[in-house]
Amino acid sequence: MSLIKSIKGRDELLLDGYRYRRDRLVWCCVKNNCKGRARHDGIMFKMYQDRICQAPDPNEIEKALFNYEIKKKAEQCHDPPRLIVHEARLKLSSDAAITIPQCTAFQRRIQRIRQDEDIPTQPKTFADIVIPLNFQNTVTNQKFVLYDNNDHNRRLLIFAGKEQLDFLNECESWHCDGTFAELHLKKEFLENDISRRTMKNLAALVFIPPQNVIEKFVQLKKSASDVLDGKMTFA
Ligand SMILES: [Zn+2]
Repeated sequence: MSLIKSIKGRDELLLDGYRYRRDRLVWCCVKNNCKGRARHDGIMFKMYQDRICQAPDPNEIEKALFNYEIKKKAEQCHDPPRLIVHEARLKLSSDAAITIPQCTAFQRRIQRIRQDEDIPTQPKTFADIVIPLNFQNTVTNQKFVLYDNNDHNRRLLIFAGKEQLDFLNECESWHCDGTFAELHLKKEFLENDISRRTMKNLAALVFIPPQNVIEKFVQLKKSASDVLDGKMTFA
C-alpha cells in the first residue's frame, strides 16, 4: 500500500496491484469504466468486496510510482534531471522498464516542475545566482543570507542564521577552513602584525603545509592569546 500523487498532483492510492484516485472518502479505480472501489476502515485500506477491479496491471502501478518519484525529487532535491530519471529507472522491474520509454521527456518534465514551483536551476555563472525571497530565510523565518555583494565577477555570499552566530559568539576559539588566499588575506596576514595575531587564532593553519599541520596546531594553541583582539567584518 502506498499513497502517492498523480502527475497533476492529485492523491492516489496504490493497493494490491490497483491504483485508485480519491473521491472524498471513497477511492475509485483510475481505469475508465472500472467499478473497483476501496476505502479506509479506520485501520487500513480495503477493497470493497463487491466492487473489486478486474485483472491488476503491475506495470501500470510501477509507472505511477516512477512518475511520483520523479515529481517528488524534482521538487525536493537539486539533483540534475538526468540523475533523477536514472535513479528512478533503477527501481523498475525489467518488465516495467520496457514499457517506459528511455527519453528526455522526463527530464523536461522535471525542469517544468521546477519552473512551476519556482525552484532555481543550477547556476552556470555568478550572475545566474538569484536567491528567491522564500529561500533567503530559514524555516523558522530567520534571515539566512547575511550578505551578498552581487558582484558578477567576484561574487561573495555569506550564509548564517542568528542562532548559529550567537553560538559562534559564545565560543572561545574558532577554527576555520577557507579560501583565504582568494580573499587576499594571505598578504594581510604576512604584512600586518595586528591582523596576523587576530587571524592566527582563526585560520593560520590554512597556510601551513599539510604534513606540518598537527605540530603547528599544537604550537599555535600554546602561544595564542586567550582573547580575540578584534573582530573582522567583511560586510
Ligand atoms: Zn479497476
